Amino acid sequence: MNDRLDGCVALVTGASSGIGEATALALAARGVRVAIAARRRDRLDALAARIVTAGGEALVAVADFADETQAARAVHETEARFGRLDILVNNAGVMYLEPVETADLGRWRHMLEVNVLGLIAATQAALPGMRERRNGHIVNISSTAGRTGNPGGAAYSATKFGVVGFSEALRKEVYKDNIRVTVIEPGIVETELREHIAHAPTQQAINTWAESMRQLKGEDIANTIVFCVSQPDHVNINEILMRPTDQER
Ligand code: NDP
Repeated sequence: MNDRLDGCVALVTGASSGIGEATALALAARGVRVAIAARRRDRLDALAARIVTAGGEALVAVADFADETQAARAVHETEARFGRLDILVNNAGVMYLEPVETADLGRWRHMLEVNVLGLIAATQAALPGMRERRNGHIVNISSTAGRTGNPGGAAYSATKFGVVGFSEALRKEVYKDNIRVTVIEPGIVETELREHIAHAPTQQAINTWAESMRQLKGEDIANTIVFCVSQPDHVNINEILMRPTDQER
């Protein structure tokens, strides 16, 4: 039986570690030609080498998604190299947790730029080609923090609720052109994400909480993304909320 993903083209943002890296590998294993984007070139080069060694095709697109021009450029580079873009996985993100009252607004502005504006800019750049070919799938990575708020996570939740709202409105704008939109809302995943929390007490609290459970792995999210994008054309999985079995909230 033919694999419907074989020969497709995907751009995975935030592919230099964690969920994005696992997703690029999982898609490549299904015959998808993958463009991998992030800021750390060394990580992307190493990942591209793994994909190519396994018989796949990969394009490294170094880009800072806090800059919407660079986010759009990653899409255009993908189209230039592979001739089209079928699947955009908007995964690049940061999680700066700290209490509202003392938060560094510069850091939160940066988080809004990456998690929301970068995702919007990449989507905007991908739509003309997808519409023209009447084929496309946009997968946006939100979080359980896009469904509920917790102390320290006010601005992170603002970005992830933003991704959920954006995704639902986007779906209504594009579904008639056979473009599908999926939003994934994972609970705790064991990645580097928490390493960038500057507020020490909050970082310690979330690390202790995460280590108290069997965390999800990047591969768990990657497998879910592959499941969503490999559905037949008439099936649009709009939203998946997934937690570690041990995670309560
Ligand atoms: P990682 O920190 O391992 O990965 C984050 C990725 O985003 C990296 O590849 C990083 O690459 C990239 N990134 C960060 N900032 C930028 C930027 N300015 N421009 C381009 N790329 C950037 O964490 P995860 O894999 O966990 O995170 C992936 C997504 O999953 C995020 O959107 C996160 O919010 C979400 N998520 C994570 C959960 C978790 O518990 N881990 C739970 C729910 C959602 P580089 O630094 O090289 O630029």
